[in-house]
Amino acid sequence: MKKIIIIVAFMFFTISLFAGELSVSYVNSSRKDHLQIYKFNNSSYFDIHDLARIFEGEIDIEPNSQTINFTVFNKKCRFFFDNKWVKFGNKNYNLFNKIIIKSGNFYIPKHFLKLCVNKFFQEFIVIDKSRIIVNLASMEQYLIKRIVIDPGHGGKDPGAVGSYLQLEEKDIVLNIAKKTKELLEKNLDVTVFLTRDKDRFVSLGDRTDFANNHQADLFISIHCNAAYNKKVNGTEVYYLSTAQTDEARAVEAMENDAIRFEDPESIKRYSDLDFILYDMRQNEYLIESSELAEICQKYLVQELNTKDKGVKQANFYVLRGAFMPAILVEVAFLSNKSDEKRLKSDNFQKGSAISIYKSIKKFKEKYDKMN
Ligand SMILES: [Zn+2]
Repeated sequence: MKKIIIIVAFMFFTISLFAGELSVSYVNSSRKDHLQIYKFNNSSYFDIHDLARIFEGEIDIEPNSQTINFTVFNKKCRFFFDNKWVKFGNKNYNLFNKIIIKSGNFYIPKHFLKLCVNKFFQEFIVIDKSRIIVNLASMEQYLIKRIVIDPGHGGKDPGAVGSYLQLEEKDIVLNIAKKTKELLEKNLDVTVFLTRDKDRFVSLGDRTDFANNHQADLFISIHCNAAYNKKVNGTEVYYLSTAQTDEARAVEAMENDAIRFEDPESIKRYSDLDFILYDMRQNEYLIESSELAEICQKYLVQELNTKDKGVKQANFYVLRGAFMPAILVEVAFLSNKSDEKRLKSDNFQKGSAISIYKSIKKFKEKYDKMN
């Protein structure tokens, strides 16, 4: 009987502590949760274990030093028993109320949430009066694991055609792409997807959709160049931005012209409003894309001994929808006699693949190390 009274009294006690809740939602996820708020001495608290669940954090309690370590979003906060301070980095922050330990639960003053939003984890959470929005996705580390290699053109679209040997761009770039994939998968811990592995037509939009659907961390489109002036030769690597020179605009026009092989319905998407949004999302990766372009340009010229025409920017349809660092490689000119001859050679194609592989390796090493 005594036991029952105690249990009922305890239940009543815990219920009376309960003083509302904050709803919790997650960016890009249907996951829902809530954070219970408790009242002690007229002040609001929450249970640290609830917050750990919501933020996917970890709690480590050290009874000897009377410390609660709360690791969340890869950062650590330290609470101390019977103490109103929380340590974050080298600084102490006032919680205005002491933490409370009751029935094995650790109650933290609600003011901690304000610190989370204003000082500790600004990029991960938004809190207003009644809800918390958590962005776990922005915590994901940028590691290069999945790469899409895109051999340009294919099927009914031959791409540029050589002026002297009538080589077709679609065949050369497919060979280079396959060799690149082989090198990458053999030597690096990555998975490589080709937008096409045979001579077939793929629309420009489908190429980036493919990369997005495969959650690629990098997108490399491989092409051969062509110019009216048959003397023009050399290597250039592009990343997406507004074309800065007439020459870049000409290459942009040439590569974008591949849409004439697409049906009218699919062409419509390139003028869609959606593309403005696409551009904005690709802009997020501008720095990484330009960096990868620089590395790739350097390695290609070094390995192939081609003329260095430098890194350029242009507004390629094929890069526009890619939500990841993306570059377009123009290995050499099919319109130039000596470049075309070189493009035909197995060694030159292999060399192109080696350079692209090396540049991805270099880029990956840098970004993997940062995490
Ligand atoms: Zn092309």
